[in-house]
Amino acid sequence: MAKYTGPVCRLCRREGVKLFLKGTRCMTEKCAIERRSYPPGQHGQSRRARVTEYGTQLREKQKLRRVYGMQERQFLGVFRVAERQVGITGEHLLSLLERRLDNVVYRLGFATSRSQARQLVNHGHVVVNGRKTDIASFTVNIGHMIEIREKSRKIPTVQAALDSVEGRGVPSWLELESEAFKGSVRALPTKQDIDVLVNEQVVVELYSR
Ligand code: SF4
Repeated sequence: MAKYTGPVCRLCRREGVKLFLKGTRCMTEKCAIERRSYPPGQHGQSRRARVTEYGTQLREKQKLRRVYGMQERQFLGVFRVAERQVGITGEHLLSLLERRLDNVVYRLGFATSRSQARQLVNHGHVVVNGRKTDIASFTVNIGHMIEIREKSRKIPTVQAALDSVEGRGVPSWLELESEAFKGSVRALPTKQDIDVLVNEQVVVELYSR
């Protein structure tokens, strides 16, 4: 599956909000949104065209997809799962995205960005309920215990990330035991637990067109 390898700050500038794709840099004044808060490219500073309803829906979808670092097909797959569940599709979509293993590793503070967390998972440094789990899209559930493997706990980036998580905080649906390099899922995440302001309802409308 094709992977975006270009400059990620460009993605934030396109969406006009911080998507927190670059770890600790996002919290500093070096953040591109702080310095150049207009869209990237030659026409970034020219007058903006009127945004259509479709344009609004598309931007919200792209924002959500980019926060979680997913390709379109993968994102659509998650949407289809959310759609099949009983209840409000938009809320199920947010919950499924937030419960991805790479996101949980990031949210627990074992990595400074979701892409770093994904690398930890892909390289087999993460254990779920005692079993090595190297699938970033794995969906965690209430009661799951997520750990960094014993021999991986000395990785400098993991140590540094845990040191910096205090400033960021761990969401209330997760519980971190930083000394033991593990955390558990206490509840299902809700919209309030998502760290980027997004209107999920328009994403549902986009896919229902
Ligand atoms: Fe770059 Fe992070 Fe700022 Fe986004 S939030 S523009 S990824 S530094």
